[in-house]
Amino acid sequence: MSAELAFNRSVDVDYGVAQEVAPGVRRIVANNPGPYTFLGTNTYLVGTGQVAVIDPGPLDEQHLIAIAKAIAGERLTHILITHSHRDHCDGARALQALAGGEIAAFGPTGSARGAGAPGLGYAFVDPAFVPDQTIADGDTVRGPGFALDVLHMPGHAPDHLCFALVGKRTVFTGDHVMGWNTTVIAPPEGNMASFLASLEKLMPRHDKMFLPGHGGRIQTPQRVVKAYIMHRKWREQTILTCLDEGDCTIPRIVARLYGTLDAGLKEAAALSVLAHLEHLISRDLVSAEGAPCLSSAFCPRPS
Ligand SMILES: [Zn+2]
Repeated sequence: MSAELAFNRSVDVDYGVAQEVAPGVRRIVANNPGPYTFLGTNTYLVGTGQVAVIDPGPLDEQHLIAIAKAIAGERLTHILITHSHRDHCDGARALQALAGGEIAAFGPTGSARGAGAPGLGYAFVDPAFVPDQTIADGDTVRGPGFALDVLHMPGHAPDHLCFALVGKRTVFTGDHVMGWNTTVIAPPEGNMASFLASLEKLMPRHDKMFLPGHGGRIQTPQRVVKAYIMHRKWREQTILTCLDEGDCTIPRIVARLYGTLDAGLKEAAALSVLAHLEHLISRDLVSAEGAPCLSSAFCPRPS
């Protein structure tokens, strides 16, 4: 198994410009590049004449005006939210004020939100986000000329939805599967067991294209999903090896696995290791004293 995944990061981006990425699908990239957002958040416009927006992106006036301009003369029926992270949902109410449309999302989950590190907590998550309409796995959002099946894919966030364009073998994957990097799984917001189960749900679908929340089109979806799953299994195995060899705290595991990382990414790496350890504990393969957290000591269970 290879250590790292290969991604095509050579994506041209022209902020504020609607570009057709598939028949009947336009993309506008928000100008919010960063270590977790790559070149920015992708906003998708689905349909013509009557349009659904998937992820209005951050509260960025220029981006929202660009969306409204791109659909001028058309009717915005739905503003769909993949998950309530600020880079995806913060612009929803402002876009609605500009262009109308019903805001639809999974809605409150009742589970713990945020993640225990600066930059990944409520600065990143909007725990108070409430849509006009809640939608769930198995629902279909329809417009003239398109239908989107709603797929609940928790893991990166408990409320994460993907939207499958019916009859087109195309899925809007949000941050569940991205075109530029592996997805951050940061507890309690992120849950590794749910994430892997959600990846498995994509395997039998035979899609031919994923349109992610960040990065370019994914034209080999099954290969990428398989690679995501392999990558996580490989990570889990290396974490078990660390524990077996006496590196039993998250900082020591992160130092061994990731080498030098800048401070912000180190927090995400530490939380990702915690997510793996939680998953190992849930299967009785590892133990920790008390509730597992970033400062816990972990032990492999004797086999
Ligand atoms: Zn995102």
